[in-house]
Formats: sequence, structure tokens, C-alpha cells
Amino acid sequence: MNLPLKNKKHKVLLVEDEEHLREGLIFSFMRENYDVCSCSTVKKAISLIKSDDFDLVILDLMLSDGDGSDVLLFIRGQNKKTPVIILSAKNSSQDKIKGLSAGVDDYLTKPFVLEELLLRMKNLLRRSFDEPEEKDLFEFSRNKIYLREGRCVTAKGEIFLTEIESKLLAYFISNPGRIIDRSELLSEVWGVGASIRTRTVDIFVSRFRKYFEEDAKLPLHFKGHRGQGYSFHP
Ligand code: CA
Repeated sequence: MNLPLKNKKHKVLLVEDEEHLREGLIFSFMRENYDVCSCSTVKKAISLIKSDDFDLVILDLMLSDGDGSDVLLFIRGQNKKTPVIILSAKNSSQDKIKGLSAGVDDYLTKPFVLEELLLRMKNLLRRSFDEPEEKDLFEFSRNKIYLREGRCVTAKGEIFLTEIESKLLAYFISNPGRIIDRSELLSEVWGVGASIRTRTVDIFVSRFRKYFEEDAKLPLHFKGHRGQGYSFHP
């Protein structure tokens, strides 16, 4: 057996209510050097996710107290990017499509071959932990943004963003095309209450225009909407 990447123990949450299958999987995951946490209900899964961070979630859909997809919705609702593999006896393509569009990373139909599950787990973990450079890079127009480092290569040269600038830019990047009002930006990026009236957001956006727009006075990427807020167009 290959050891998981870089010998780091990845934390896996297994949500499965068939006891024999669960016990078998726990054993196999531990043998693969995963740090395994397991449960058999939607309720317990959600409480575990609330209190802990997992690198990967293996999720059965039909659980004794409800639908496993509620666990998935909870994870995505928290904006967690945790990769999720669905294990399910439901095998119609409709279900697969429904699962994937709700943010599932992979889908295995029961009965499945253990080796295939282990392989898919490895692939997903590799994708989320071993290729940060690729995932980290965001490009628009003539700008290359390395969000993790806060480094930007622009037509005007190299720029290092402050922590708040990085957070604000990341927020725009993850909400392309949507008009975001100032109070949302203040609460999501600065963590301050929406009742605060401030020009802070405007000042930061005008900086971004200077950094990233060809003509800061005719912005194509960071657009202002009078009385509404700003939108980002990559
Ligand atoms: Ca089940």
C-alpha cells in the first residue's frame, strides 16, 4: 500500500449507517494511514463538521435519520471546500447529476470496489492539497493573481497585497459578475457590522482599479453601481 501524500495524516469523516460497511471502511482507512472519524446520522455528521475540520468527507445518502445530501448542503452552505465523495445505493443518473450539481466531488454507487474508493480518495486529496500553485493562480486581463501569497503580476509591475486587500480581492473573485453591496463587503471582508457607514470599500476599490485596470477612470473589471455597490468582471 502506498502511504498517503507527504505522510501527512488526512482527516476523513465517514458518514455511513450500515454498520458492517462502516466498520470495514474504518479499518481500511486506518490501514491507509487516514485519521478517521465516523458516524451514522445526519445530525451527528453536522455536529462533527461544526466542531472540526475534515480534509475529506465520505457520505452515504440514505441515512437512518434523513438524507445525506443535507450534510453536503450544510458543508457547502458554510462555504467549506472540503471534498465530498458520495456513496449511494441510488444509481440512477438523475441522482448522480443532482448530487454533482450540489457540489459533490465524486460519486460511487454501491456496491463498489474498495480499491476504487481508496484511489478516488487519494486523487481528491492530491487535488486539494498537492497542487496549491495551480488552484491558487487566478488570471484576468493582463493580471496574474497568486492569492495565497497576495502577489500580483500586473501590466504595471509586481504588487504585494495587504491582508485585507487579498481578502477583498478573493471575495470579488469568488463572486464574479454579482453586484455586492458595501455592507456585505464590510461584513464579509472586514468583519464589521453592516450599519457602519464608511468610505473604506470605495477607497480599496479605487486602489484595485489603479493596480489592475488599464484605465482606472474607465474600469472594466471593478464596476461601481450607484447606490448598490460593486461588481467584479474577470
Ligand atoms: Ca445507508
